[in-house]
Amino acid sequence: MRHQAVTVLGLGPMGQAMANVFLDHGYEVTVWNRTPERADDLVAKGAIRAPTVGEAVRAGDLTILSLTDYAAAYAILEQAKDELAGRIFVNLGSATPAEARQAANWLAALGAAHLTGGVLTPPSGIGTPGPVTLYSGPREVLDAHGATLELLTGIDYRGEDPGLAALYYQLEISMFWTALLGYLHATAMARANGISATEFAGTAAKTFAGMTEFFEFYAPRIDAGDHSGDVDRLSMSAASIEHVVRTAGDSGVDATLPTAMLEIVRRGIADGHAGDSFTSLIETLRR
Ligand code: NDP
Repeated sequence: MRHQAVTVLGLGPMGQAMANVFLDHGYEVTVWNRTPERADDLVAKGAIRAPTVGEAVRAGDLTILSLTDYAAAYAILEQAKDELAGRIFVNLGSATPAEARQAANWLAALGAAHLTGGVLTPPSGIGTPGPVTLYSGPREVLDAHGATLELLTGIDYRGEDPGLAALYYQLEISMFWTALLGYLHATAMARANGISATEFAGTAAKTFAGMTEFFEFYAPRIDAGDHSGDVDRLSMSAASIEHVVRTAGDSGVDATLPTAMLEIVRRGIADGHAGDSFTSLIETLRR
């Protein structure tokens, strides 16, 4: 029995990693990339370089889209618009929920199926045990191709709505970038004070590991609309963040990030929440 044939459109670091994993598992892998030379190493390893998007899409039982955004996806798929009927697309690139829904509708109108995927690992995690990808879209399509997709990462199915995986992905990514920038900012302050990134890493790790307790404590209170200031008050948060702003300034480190946080906290105070918990900011953030 022949292995499934997979097409990968987009050969940035992620698409390369995915195509490599499929090749390693003996799949017939067809690739297409706007910059064709990016396929050279994969072709040397056995991948087929399709001369056109249409030929690429026809070659695979399913087509992985690993592109910067949906603008890139449309730029590519428009080239083969009349050849998409009956094909299956799995978009593993970042997108907003609205874009994912729109793309699913666009493809459905052309007779093609679409799964949304949000990959929660860098390229080095592709094909390794542990990492997962959030999926949403038609369950039967995922079931039919789950064994192939599982070669890349584990599967975390969130439902039929094509926007759901993108939504959960953006929720995670929002926290990811905020946390990573917070880490970098603290590390810049550490280094400005003679503490190396390596020396600081253990402290940073403990701080992040401790965050989950806050989610568990605050989540039910947020859902209940309970922002009472029994354990923390916004006035305290403002004073605390102000100390971060001043420490950054004294260290010669850019204070844009803590200043932006302070600005949000001050809006909460102006809304009348000085004596309420930090979580009362959820009312200030909701527009
Ligand atoms: P890149 O942005 O490096 O991939 C770019 C790919 O998109 C290339 O193949 C590029 O072609 C193509 N592309 C971009 N614009 C166009 C266009 N207008 N027309 C045609 N092709 C275009 O990203 P990655 O490979 O790093 O990631 C791919 C997706 O995976 C992204 O959506 C990213 O958010 C997501 N992701 C990435 C992670 C990572 O750590 N890298 C982690 C999790 C998700 P060309 O080679 O010609 O420039």
